[in-house]
Amino acid sequence: EFESSEALKRLPQQFFSSLVQKVNALVASGADVINLGQGNPDQPTPLHIVKSLQDAAENPLYHKYPPFSGHHFLKEAIAEFYKREYHVSLDPSTEVAILFGGKTGLVEMSQCLLNPGDTALVPDPGYPDYWSGIAMAGAKMTLMPLLEENGFLPDYTQIDPDRLEQAKLLFLNYPNNPTGAIATPSFFKDTVRLANRHKIAVMHDFAYGAIGFDGKKPMSFLETPGAKDVGIEIYTMSKTYNMAGWRIGFALGNASIIRMINLIQDHFYVSLFGGIQEAAATALLGTQENVKQLVQLYESRRNTLIQGLQQIGWTVDAPQGSFFAWLKVPEGFTSESFSELLLKKAHIAVAPGIGFGTTGNPYVRVGLLDREERLLEAVDRIDRLNLF
Ligand code: PLP
Repeated sequence: EFESSEALKRLPQQFFSSLVQKVNALVASGADVINLGQGNPDQPTPLHIVKSLQDAAENPLYHKYPPFSGHHFLKEAIAEFYKREYHVSLDPSTEVAILFGGKTGLVEMSQCLLNPGDTALVPDPGYPDYWSGIAMAGAKMTLMPLLEENGFLPDYTQIDPDRLEQAKLLFLNYPNNPTGAIATPSFFKDTVRLANRHKIAVMHDFAYGAIGFDGKKPMSFLETPGAKDVGIEIYTMSKTYNMAGWRIGFALGNASIIRMINLIQDHFYVSLFGGIQEAAATALLGTQENVKQLVQLYESRRNTLIQGLQQIGWTVDAPQGSFFAWLKVPEGFTSESFSELLLKKAHIAVAPGIGFGTTGNPYVRVGLLDREERLLEAVDRIDRLNLF
């Protein structure tokens, strides 16, 4: 048996792997589990994107090594997409990096900028992958509570001034996983101001960028004046186009950071299979009808779930975006004891909020990732527990 490096020892265990094991064991025992615990989109990739990969697979050009840091046509496609969707101009040569899913960019950002002992500001609750890169770099985290009364936006005035002085990197994510909150333009303006004042790099995770409800289109951080000077945004094909299994995403914005990310990518991976890059360009530049339908589907599921839960007496708020509902657990429970109860007594899997940080304790995260009949069945099973 070999001993791992110190850097690897610092990598936290995946909190949700034990939940997955419990769910799998229940399913194996024959239970009809409604699994709303994970963040895996349940819809298939639109057919025209799949067809694009099928055609591209026959192109011998793609059978050789791809160019380092990816095909230029895809960088141009993402720049065109940002122009069309967000009126943001990006130079495809210097301000776009192609990633193996958004995840790699989140971890690489810490590898690019943090030295041992440095500090990063991290949302609490937040997507656990932010912690991984910080831990590997030997850096420290300052948690920023996301409170309901602040619309789940961090309150920068509450951060200890010394911690702010030490901070080198700030992680943000809107539409937010797990709270379903959307950022406001004034919050992003404050973020740019803070970043400039304290020389902090911003990493905005826009994984759920396409998913806003009630007619609200989520804003890209790069729409904020000066954003490109202070940071980058991560976009991914996973949620917008149901391409989670294809592992393709992008880092966009500040040219010096994009250069660093590309350096890591070049050394570790070269780049993705060209056919996947071609299919991604097809998705970005082709019809967006599927995206519109997908948002309607999640919104309809959200309405069904939230109204159903309200009708059985659970006081819950509706998410504004993403495909998660963030529900405060009933009095007398913690996020873990409530998730445990739902799994054991109702065969419903949800993610305990504590897995996203300490502020997540009185909440559970419920994915809008099954058919409406199943969501209604979940409401029914919860009703039968007689908690409200
Ligand atoms: N960021 C957030 C907030 C996510 O929820 C996810 C996936 O669940 C990702 C990033 C990573 O997405 P991917 O690596 O599939 O692009």
